[in-house]
This record gives sequence, structure tokens and C-alpha cells, in this order.
Amino acid sequence: MKIICIGRNYAAHAKELGNEVPESPVIFCKPDTALLKNEEPFYHPDFSNEIQHELELVIRIQKMGKKIQKQFAHLYYSEISVGLDFTARDKQTELKQKGLPWELAKAFDGSACIGKFIPFQNHANGIEFSLKKNAELVQAGNSNLMLHSIDEIISFVSQYFTLKVGDLIYTGTPAGVGKINIGDTLEAWIGEEKLLHCEVK
Ligand code: MG
Repeated sequence: MKIICIGRNYAAHAKELGNEVPESPVIFCKPDTALLKNEEPFYHPDFSNEIQHELELVIRIQKMGKKIQKQFAHLYYSEISVGLDFTARDKQTELKQKGLPWELAKAFDGSACIGKFIPFQNHANGIEFSLKKNAELVQAGNSNLMLHSIDEIISFVSQYFTLKVGDLIYTGTPAGVGKINIGDTLEAWIGEEKLLHCEVK
């Protein structure tokens, strides 16, 4: 399986990092070794002094497809969860300045934390999701604020990558990213349902 991530999909987050809001989705991938599931702890790597949490809605592909049209994209997923796109922000800043790819800052072991999946249900008011760090609310988002919707992302990404069963798509983080430290507890929700728990060690 592969992990596909969208960058800058919420205007407020693009702004907080001083990035322009892109016309097309910004895409990067993580290898399967990045996956952190079943409430496994996150071991803080020693190559970074600034690992940040990025709370994101994540969908799981349930059907193989390529060049999917937007109006059929909903047939390719039926489950959703929340995930954390852990980012070595200091490393990423260094790579960005040199115009180099982001993998070392984004795709390291454990960098794709994933919660429990639940059936996907769209709501007129959007899908609300939130993250608490040490029991304090640090990020909250709503799918209605995405610059590119889930269906647009699937359509766009599948023009380039064949999507396979089990692939995960991280759909971008809302504003409020922040540093994590050893000893932190991270918990995330969709609506009232807690789906993710991660200890930083
Ligand atoms: Mg992200």
C-alpha cells in the first residue's frame, strides 16, 4: 500500500506557514514503513528538534482505479479516520530553502499515524475533526473548509497514480500545527468519536 498526502489544502494553514494557496493540490507520498497504527507510540527521532503534528482526515481506498472522474470518486472509498502527518519542520524548512524534495522531513518511520476507521458519512455541515495534546484542544477542522474536496483529490491523484485497495490519502491539515515533545499524549476525534491515541516517547 501507499500513503498519499495533500499539502496546503486549508487556506488558514497555508497562511500560518507563509505559503501561497496553490491552484492544484500539492502532493507527496510516504512509504508503508511510515505507518503508525493500533495506538503504537511515536518514537521522537533525534534528527529533528521540531516535530510538528498535522491533524488530517484520512480516507482508505476500497477499489482499484486510475483516471477516476470526480463524479465517480465516491465509489472508491467508504471509510474515514483521522491521522497525524508528523513533520520534521526544521528539516522541511531546510529542504524547501534548497529546493529539495521533502521526504526526509515527511516520510520517516512512524510519520503517518492513523486512527481507527469508521464508515464515511457526509454531512451538509461538513465533517468536524479535532486534536487534543495533553487534554488541551490544539487543532480543529471541518471538511467544508478544504480547498480541494476528497472527490477532487481522488480524481486529481488518480491521473498520476493508480489507486489500489488499502491505499491511504491524508487530505491536509487545518491551521494550528504545533511542536510535539517526548511525554505528550495526542488524541483525535471525528465529531464526538475518539479514533486516535498516540503517546510520544
Ligand atoms: Mg500534512
